[in-house]
Amino acid sequence: MAYKITENCAACGTCIDECPTGAISAGDIYKIDPNACADCGTCADACPMGAIEQA
Ligand code: SF4
Ligand code: SF4
Repeated sequence: MAYKITENCAACGTCIDECPTGAISAGDIYKIDPNACADCGTCADACPMGAIEQA
């Protein structure tokens, strides 16, 4: 199971620096590569918009 980023993403960039596996890529809405996500939850805790949830 991986985490995913919802449309609530404000593209603030906080999560991308927090991910230990480099699974997050930037964009209008940031994305998580499910194959690279280690399911650690760090990004979800760091997101100020509450935009990251378990898929
Ligand atoms: S921390 Fe949240 S709002 Fe900011 S880029 Fe990541 S998913 Fe989007
Ligand atoms: S849950 Fe962990 S490994 Fe997966 S995208 Fe978030 S910070 Fe990266």
